[in-house]
Amino acid sequence: MERARITVFDTTLRDGEQSPGCSMNVQEKLRLAHQLDRLGVDAIEAGFPIASDGDFAAVQAIAATVDRPIIAGLARACSADIERAWQALKGAARPRIHVFLATSDIHLQYKLRISRQRCMEQARDAVRLAKSLCEDVEFSPEDATRTDREFLCQILEAVIEAGATTVNIPDTVGYSMPAEFGELIATIRQRVRAIEKVTISAHCHNDLGLAVANSLAALAAGARQVECTINGIGERAGNASLEEIVMATRVRPDRYTYETGVVSEQLYPTSQLLSEITGVPVQPNKAIIGRNAFAHEAGIHQDGMLKNPLTYEIMTPQSVGVPDSRLVLGKHSGRHALGLRCDQLGYPFERRELDEIYRKFVVMADQIKHVQDHHLLELIQETRGSARRIPPAHVEVRPAAKAASATVGQNSGREYFQKPFPVSLAPDLNGSPLPLNPMAEHHCEQEDYLWGV
Ligand SMILES: [Zn+2]
Repeated sequence: MERARITVFDTTLRDGEQSPGCSMNVQEKLRLAHQLDRLGVDAIEAGFPIASDGDFAAVQAIAATVDRPIIAGLARACSADIERAWQALKGAARPRIHVFLATSDIHLQYKLRISRQRCMEQARDAVRLAKSLCEDVEFSPEDATRTDREFLCQILEAVIEAGATTVNIPDTVGYSMPAEFGELIATIRQRVRAIEKVTISAHCHNDLGLAVANSLAALAAGARQVECTINGIGERAGNASLEEIVMATRVRPDRYTYETGVVSEQLYPTSQLLSEITGVPVQPNKAIIGRNAFAHEAGIHQDGMLKNPLTYEIMTPQSVGVPDSRLVLGKHSGRHALGLRCDQLGYPFERRELDEIYRKFVVMADQIKHVQDHHLLELIQETRGSARRIPPAHVEVRPAAKAASATVGQNSGREYFQKPFPVSLAPDLNGSPLPLNPMAEHHCEQEDYLWGV
């Protein structure tokens, strides 16, 4: 089957940076831009040059040093913005001016206070000016999903005639439903003259949690560019999440017949870099790059994972750049996972001894959310009945278990049990991953599973 190549337009540095707590300085933007280049995005919206001197400098620096992707700069539909954007972009190997103007009646009446006719002329003139400076021009009718369809089609025809090469359809307020957004794209494809000469793009916001679903619906209806951000950051509830769109097309090529140039192994490193720069953590259960995205705690899941990762994983952690799956030891874990962790820590147990450890482990796991290696080592010492409790830091471990016990010693001792679980940006909750062994010995005891589906 012919697979359509779609353009991944990253706007982390523009729309994403506009979200509270996510502003970045020039050096930080430059660092992220280089990582976005490694990630393989097709276009980087580097900023809004007229917004501030810092934004101008960042766009200029990125344009000068990041050669492969298209570098876009945002401009309102007026000459000062467009000329300023061009000043920042002109050093780029592949510059793009992105012009926008609101088109919905509510924006025209209350924000811009202009008529539809004036709006149309302003959009056309702005695109003409941008085109006189730069071959690659994108136009966005802001609030497109709440714009009268007939008027939307007319304005798109006008900007295409004026030289736009990409027309972007923003669901600026995150109001659209997937089927509805797909229909809008289909209508534009049917009704707008010369639409086949340009690329249709989707720009979705996540106010109803539908940004990715809407973007995928747009692709299915014929859009060939998606605008998205790392970690889904952006105004209000954010933009469509780049990693989710990319992996949806990778994991389900039967449903989504598109290809992107994204190097999926760079998704997690890029997400981590953005969090590090902004100090804004990713929610633990965030798809693809959240710290729990590949963590398995439920006993039946852990048991299946140890036998074969395909039982509960639709993609491998390595495919998105996460070092390994995490089997988190908690109250839903089974005896199999516990035994393996003890073994890794240098304490292989016989079945009966493991039973005793397991009973104590369940009691402990009821009190603390995640049982870490130092907790487990303490428990092992108690069970073995050593007269003097050996501090976990001094426990002799086999070489293979050294890395696993690297965190032992911090927070060790009973006082830890009263402390809340330490929150960390790192994905590694347990000090180290449990290696997956599909050939693990087959234990079929039902009592291994404290928790099912
Ligand atoms: Zn936006």
